[in-house]
Amino acid sequence: MKKKNIVLRPPIKTKYAYEKLRCCKNCHNYTVLMEENCTTCGKPALLPVQELALRAAKRSLSNDLLLTLLLTLIAVAFSPTFQFIAISAVSGAALMALLLFVRRKALPSRTSIELSKMFVRDRDRIANGLVRNLDIAAAQENEARSYELMREVAVIIRNDHIRKLQILLLQSLVLRKDMDLELEPLLLEDFDPELASYIGELAKIKRELIKDRTFQYVIKYEQQITAMKDGDDILAGVAGAAVRMKRYVLAYSGFLARYARKLPKDRFLRLYRIVTENPDLNWGALQAETARIYEEKYQWDADFQQIKPRSNIHDV
Ligand SMILES: [Zn+2]
Repeated sequence: MKKKNIVLRPPIKTKYAYEKLRCCKNCHNYTVLMEENCTTCGKPALLPVQELALRAAKRSLSNDLLLTLLLTLIAVAFSPTFQFIAISAVSGAALMALLLFVRRKALPSRTSIELSKMFVRDRDRIANGLVRNLDIAAAQENEARSYELMREVAVIIRNDHIRKLQILLLQSLVLRKDMDLELEPLLLEDFDPELASYIGELAKIKRELIKDRTFQYVIKYEQQITAMKDGDDILAGVAGAAVRMKRYVLAYSGFLARYARKLPKDRFLRLYRIVTENPDLNWGALQAETARIYEEKYQWDADFQQIKPRSNIHDV
């Protein structure tokens, strides 16, 4: 399959995932895509869910106020003496003043209560809306656009089906360093060769995206990756990403011992430096393996001459 050269737009980031969710005032359908009109009824009636929750919160707070006013009026109407009328009116007014005062403070928490009520009540509607969004995303002619739309849906629902679709789409594009790519949100439960290839590509262009969960995924499915056509390149690339930090080298020293020989010189130099400068840490088989590779390939290399064990520095 020939890969396409397409520009991927960065995602619009929001503090909470649900902030992307909008609901149609007219037909009550949900969407996370940025369309102007509701795709179900065609009306320009889409409102962000926070906006709807805020309106509901204002309404319920106003209801409290109206109820207090009503009760005050009833109390006044049924008061037998002037004294009772005065007490009812004053306490009713005080309560309404208090309600007005706390209203401002209560609004944010009331809004989040309304929001969670909405999510519980409209669970199925939201799910259906997202399924419709996915269909729209899958029907796009342009893979990048399709991926962008799926990424919007994946912010709200995380499942392996959507992740697989996203990985397939990404694998149909030429990936570049300047793209806004992600890895950890796309990690699957099971082994997937497309995901393994994607990890291999990221190891070349964006190794900072490879973190603990990816190392664990790769180690878990090492056998399957080895069996792939360019499996060894992928594993060596991931090993090259692990030498970024001492912590990773220590945590995945067994894995690194198996692929240290396949590292390019700059990555091996880094690994050799980390292991040699920290002789007191427990490197396991990695210590002997780096020493062996150094002897075989690099002992006359000038770049390696500066590296000395930290504890022996004063002896030199
Ligand atoms: Zn609608």
